[in-house]
This record gives sequence, structure tokens and C-alpha cells, in this order.
Amino acid sequence: MSDRIHNFGAGPGVLPESVLRQAQQDLWNLRGSGIGIAEHSHRGKVFEKVIAEAEDDIRLLAGIPDNYKILFIQGGATQQFAMVPMNLLPAGRTADYLITGVWAQKAHQEAGKFGSVHVALSGEGSKFTQIPPVSEIEYSENPAYVHLTTNNTIYGTEWKTEPPVPPGVPLVADTSSDMFSRPIDVTKYGLIYAGAQKNLGPSGIVLVIMREDLAEQAPKTLPTLMQYRTYVKEKSLYNTPPTFAIYMVGQVVKWILASGGLAGMAERNAEKAKVLYDFLDQSAFFKPSVHRDSRSLMNICFRTASEELDAKFASEATKKGFDGLKGHRSAGGMRASLYNACPKESVVALVAFMKEFEKANSA
Ligand SMILES: *Cc1c(COP(=O)(O)O)cnc(C)c1O
Repeated sequence: MSDRIHNFGAGPGVLPESVLRQAQQDLWNLRGSGIGIAEHSHRGKVFEKVIAEAEDDIRLLAGIPDNYKILFIQGGATQQFAMVPMNLLPAGRTADYLITGVWAQKAHQEAGKFGSVHVALSGEGSKFTQIPPVSEIEYSENPAYVHLTTNNTIYGTEWKTEPPVPPGVPLVADTSSDMFSRPIDVTKYGLIYAGAQKNLGPSGIVLVIMREDLAEQAPKTLPTLMQYRTYVKEKSLYNTPPTFAIYMVGQVVKWILASGGLAGMAERNAEKAKVLYDFLDQSAFFKPSVHRDSRSLMNICFRTASEELDAKFASEATKKGFDGLKGHRSAGGMRASLYNACPKESVVALVAFMKEFEKANSA
């Protein structure tokens, strides 16, 4: 290191240094094959091993039982907003959505194009600064599935545990911004999806973990690539997948396994978030933007007393080598994304800079 700066971007986000250095070599010549990872046939032995290892490592990392399938799908999490209802919402049934932020809203809106949807919970009343209490959930009668967003990337809130769902109803989760940042009990879900570019790798690939039987529900009239069963049957190789992105996810998962697994990630992520939240809690100048009980460990949102000072902070931070701190346009303020690969040193350096800024700008 380091001609690199501190990267707090919300996604695509920072990746582990060791993974990036290995990728530089593997782009040239993967595992002594004489061919780089981006040049290998997706039908060849070398890539076959790359994708099989990625799957095995993911299974090991999250303790995924055999009746769950691991799929790699293109189109981003946004495409899953459509694929989920296309596959899991039969005519005459209703899908229930827990709306806790912008991405949850978008998922709900997209599902409405394919069938009947119901808002079972909404955080709009608190402007999404809190995950509402589960006692406020009102499910429809016998929903086809319940959809939630486990971590709200834009507002900086997260579900601390899974909400209760009616017996037998599959829980579907968009985990794009907290996947593999903490342990996850896959068996509580019917389907989990995560766009890779926050915690898992580069953009261009979505990790889907789904209960085998759910993949068989889709009408066979759907476009081939919109049916989960295609990815199950062809092991995500019906057509040419983004081979480099899948390789990268595999390497990141190996890095997590070597770094204490999901428990190790959770511990480090809690430590990093504490550094910043502890500072925010004692500061008279910066304020955390969301309720204490809903604080995300991945995306930490905060603000000063005015939009002018927020803008000044973001611009001075950039000059000092802290990137990606400007909040999303729909939430305002600032946001520091502390994904798995964000080193603790970056958070410590950020807090030191915030202290300086506070001192220089306090009345
Ligand atoms: C980033 C993000 C998305 C959008 O992902 P794309 O890959 O851009 O489609 C969806 N949901 C959540 C929770 C996100 O953080």
C-alpha cells in the first residue's frame, strides 16, 4: 500500500487487498493454465473448477443444507425484483412486502406488475429512519411469500432478526448490502438474493440461494433465463455467465473463510461500526440519522446541523482522501459504508478527520 485512498462508497464497494492482488495475477495466468481468468471458456475444466469451488465454499461458509440451491444470475438485484414475483407469485395469490426503504419500495413496485401485492409494514411514517416494530405487521390472508430488505443501504437501517411470518409462507430477502457480513440462518428463508457489488465482489452477478422446491413453481412459459429452474438444471451455465465476476465472488468467499468466517466478519464489522457510532454519540456537531435500535453496521448515515456544512464536509473529506461519503440523494447527509473489506484503519482515520472538522467548524 498505498496509492489507494479510503473508500466508503456504497457500491460497488471496497474489495479485500489480497483478493485484488491475486486477481491481478490470475487475469494474466490462472492457476498455471497459461490463460487468464477472463479468457477461459465457461465450459472448460479450469472454469468448471472455479464455479464449483465457489459454490462449495459458499455452502461451507453459510452452512447451507442440500435442499437449497446456489445460483449465479445476471441482471443485478433489480432483476430479482421481477424474477421473484414471476416465479413465486401465481395468479390469484398476493405477495406481502415489508417496506423499510427505497430498495424495498422498488421491489414492491416491480412485483405489482406481475400480480397482487400488499404492503404488510411500512417505515414511511418515520421517513425510514427506523425498522417499525413487528407488532405493526399486518399480513394478507395466506400470502404467496413475504419479501423484506435485510439492510437498507440508503437510509442505514437493518433488521436485527427475521420478522415472524405466517406458518409455511416462504420469506424472501434482498440481502444485497449485508450478505455474509454476519451469520445467516438460511433455513429461515425460501429465497435469498444479493447483488455482489457491496460485500461479495464486483457488479454483474447476483448470488441466489433458494429452496429447491420453490424453483419448480414458475410457469414454463416464462423466458428461459427468467426461470430459476433453468439455473438449477444447468448449474448457472445455461448461457455464458460473467465468469470473472463469479471468480471474484469465489475469491472473496475464500478470504472470508480465512478471516474467521461469518462470525469473524460479524465481530470485525461490529467493532468498526462501534468506532464511528461511539464518536457520533458523543459529538455535539455530527448526529446519527437513524434510531438507535435500527442502526445498520454496514451503512452508517449521519449529518451536521445544516446542508451547507454537510456539503463542506463531503468536499473537504474528498480532498483528504476519503471517498464516497456523500449520502444518497433521497436521504441527504452523509453515509459511510463499512462493508466487510473496509479496513478498521479507514474508520479510525475517518473519525480523526471528523474530530478535526468538528473543531474547525464549531461555533
Ligand atoms: C444496491 C442494492 C440494490 C440494487 O442492486 P443492482 O445490482 O444495482 O440492481 C438492491 N437492493 C439493495 C438492498 C441494494 O443495496
